[in-house]
Amino acid sequence: MVIVMGPDATQDDVAAIVKVIGEAGGEAFVSRGVSRTIIGLVGDVAQFGTLDLGGMRGVADVMRVTAPYKLVSRDNHPERSTIRVGGVPIGPGTVTLIAGPCAVETPRQTLEAAEMAKAAGATLLRGGAYKPRTSPYAFQGLGEAGLRILADVRERTGLPVVTEVVDAHDVELVASYADMLQIGTRNAQNFALLQAVGGIGKPVMLKRGMNATIEEWLMAAEYIAQRGNLDIVLCERGIRTFETATRNTLDVSAVPVAQRLSHLPVIVDPSHSGGHRNLVLPLSRAAVAAGADGVIVDVHPRPEQALCDGPQALVEDDLHELAEVMRVFPPLLGKTATGGVPASV
Ligand code: PEP
Ligand code: MN
Repeated sequence: MVIVMGPDATQDDVAAIVKVIGEAGGEAFVSRGVSRTIIGLVGDVAQFGTLDLGGMRGVADVMRVTAPYKLVSRDNHPERSTIRVGGVPIGPGTVTLIAGPCAVETPRQTLEAAEMAKAAGATLLRGGAYKPRTSPYAFQGLGEAGLRILADVRERTGLPVVTEVVDAHDVELVASYADMLQIGTRNAQNFALLQAVGGIGKPVMLKRGMNATIEEWLMAAEYIAQRGNLDIVLCERGIRTFETATRNTLDVSAVPVAQRLSHLPVIVDPSHSGGHRNLVLPLSRAAVAAGADGVIVDVHPRPEQALCDGPQALVEDDLHELAEVMRVFPPLLGKTATGGVPASV
């Protein structure tokens, strides 16, 4: 059982609940987040059934959820959530295009990529300043200098920024620049990092671990939610299978399955799953057709010079087609693309 406290709940309200639970023979775990306090109860639910916890002062919600993930489960929250990132909605009813370079390399490259993204209908800019690379010899990202470039490009283009954080120690710094923090596939079960982003007041995009089941992915999201941050966007980015023809195997089924199990929005990264630009458009169509709430793609003005993931970056010509996908597909599903797509593209 999980108790969600309202924003005005006091320390005394929380203490009163902990006391009542203790008296009933249960154990309460209190997690104080920036925006709300969550109390988890361990023990037999029937044991607490007679307590009027919902009637106690400061309580916003009492969830008797049987799924192992409680706060992100749809059991107690049947309507699907919309998460706002710098004012841009991600959720049912819309398809949000997020685009930008895999890595922030230079101010010019980032600005050019952002302008390409915007022209294709993107309403959010992606770009990594901290890159979790397989090889320690590969470009690791510009760090804070990269975050400053992203903030400057946001200023110039008006596009809110999504960027990855790889270390719990950097969460506050990255959050001071970003509009949404990204947790990458390699850190998808780094529980200390998940708890750290759970403690900030900014949305989090949680990629699925490349070897995580959907349940493990939702449990990872629960780590963030349990710290009081429910502004989470799930991102399917392909899983490890026996297939070697693609970088990873996009699990299209994960979109409807995760949406049925969780109220959180689910988006798809066709760039990191396919690993090649030729696959990005077909996989984007598949993602939107399957009901994804958004798509996040890599773009680069000069992919042959890219310091990271050049082969999968879309170029100018591909963006016309991507814009077409965003124009044609969402209305077929009764949705709109956020921001719409300029007629000139
Ligand atoms: C990325 O989006 O830049 C990235 C590294 O993705 P993933 O964690 O899915 O590999
Ligand atoms: Mn990449």
